[in-house]
Amino acid sequence: MRLNKDYEPIIGLEVHAQMLTETKAFCGCSTKFGSEPNTNVCPVCLGMPGTLPVLNLNLVEFVLKIGLATNCKIAPRSIFARKNYFYPDLPKGYQISQYEKPICTDGFAEIDTDDGKGKTIGLTRIHMEEDAGKSIHDLDVDTLVDVNRCGVPLIEIVSEPDIRSPREAYQFLSKIKQLVTYLGICDGNMEEGSLRCDANVSVRRKGQEQFGTKTEVKNMNSFRNVERALEYEINRQIQLIEDGGEVAQETLLWDANQNVAYPMRSKEEAHDYRYFPDPDLVPVLVDETWIEKVRASLPELPTPRRDRFIAELGLSKYDAEVLTNEKRVASYYEETLAALAGITGQPSKNIAKTVSNWLMTDVLRVMGERKTDIPEFPISPKNLAAMIGLIIDGTISGKIAKEVFEEMLETNEHPRTIVKNKNLVQVSDSSTIELAVDEVLGANKPQVDKYLGGNEKVFGFFVGETMKKMQGKGNPKIVNEVLKRKLGSLKN
Ligand code: ADP
Ligand code: ZN
Ligand code: MG
Repeated sequence: MRLNKDYEPIIGLEVHAQMLTETKAFCGCSTKFGSEPNTNVCPVCLGMPGTLPVLNLNLVEFVLKIGLATNCKIAPRSIFARKNYFYPDLPKGYQISQYEKPICTDGFAEIDTDDGKGKTIGLTRIHMEEDAGKSIHDLDVDTLVDVNRCGVPLIEIVSEPDIRSPREAYQFLSKIKQLVTYLGICDGNMEEGSLRCDANVSVRRKGQEQFGTKTEVKNMNSFRNVERALEYEINRQIQLIEDGGEVAQETLLWDANQNVAYPMRSKEEAHDYRYFPDPDLVPVLVDETWIEKVRASLPELPTPRRDRFIAELGLSKYDAEVLTNEKRVASYYEETLAALAGITGQPSKNIAKTVSNWLMTDVLRVMGERKTDIPEFPISPKNLAAMIGLIIDGTISGKIAKEVFEEMLETNEHPRTIVKNKNLVQVSDSSTIELAVDEVLGANKPQVDKYLGGNEKVFGFFVGETMKKMQGKGNPKIVNEVLKRKLGSLKN
């Protein structure tokens, strides 16, 4: 969708990420997704009178990780607050959150942009809170409530209004997803709701300094939907202003089926949350020792890892970017590389590009086609390395390797077993190759004459025919050599 060039969109995102702790934020209940409804509950997360919440320290650890990874200031003392509202899926009648004194503030994240220059997006805050339950409306029966999710730990990441296009919003979300998955604190799955995003958006005329009135768009459950909903809303606001109207500050819900955002009924959004400090929870105290301990536990993050791939392995920026985009892919790559270095005795740098090519053109392609991820990928790094090792030591040709790769996908077998069972060993013995070449040249006199007459293009035809004769198993280098030699001797 094209956006009117006289206007500039201003966007700020609020991202909720569900933390991968074993237990809930303030009780010992399991956080397992997909459990039987209303089974992961206890008096604490149901808010029974007389119960007391106890903070899960893993949640603090997790929020510190993302806070440090995004250059935030860490508050030595932060406070939990109650956000009060009435809704059937909120048995306590309030949600525990952080309000005035969040744990992380003033950070930033570097996002990729389409022009390749990158951009810094400010982070206003990152705070801890608990999730509410789930109302299930889309059944023939009355509305049902599942409170398993009550008390499941979330973090909320609030960006500064630094985002200037739906595309940048998409890139920002991608960056957040990349960071939380690298850190291992969230699975990043937007469709399942472990990553959720509300978008604040306004437009202003180019050159105007003041921001326009913003609306908030909710209910987008994929990256693509965030981009599309923002395009829709930006155009709606521009059209409204062009027609002499004014943007009303309101909350809209995105309808992915109709491709429209419609306003929530104003009563639904007329919230006064009456925030106040939760009297049942003590302040969260974080000292330097704790911060340093968490900092030391941080894994290598995507950008430094990418830069290391470029500097140490000599990969192009593009390759390094693709390989480090997802942590599991980057680790798969490095494991394959290490295994292959072990097999061949070659330094990683020399074989880095070969392994990269297999990852980028074969592994990632298959994962894309099958819509699967590294954990379900049938070929282990060790086996992939063994297969590339067979190419390097001349046992199989690169072409046969593709066949072995396909077979490995289906059978999970070691490449050596496949090569042996299917008799795929490359033929490098020149007398065998010479026999095949003689037959090909003998059977294709007209092409031979063409070649001798100066048409060098037919050479490829001879290579193809010889390979076909040898069921693809001829060593291409030697096939080429023998053909050159034989044709050369025919010339004289
Ligand atoms: P509210 O008071 O409605 O909660 P905040 O100032 O706390 O608003 O900001 C909430 C989110 O909205 C932040 O992500 C912020 O970057 C974004 N935001 C604030 N003002 C604007 C604006 N004029 N246009 C677009 N986004 C905005
Ligand atoms: Zn509980
Ligand atoms: Mg606010």
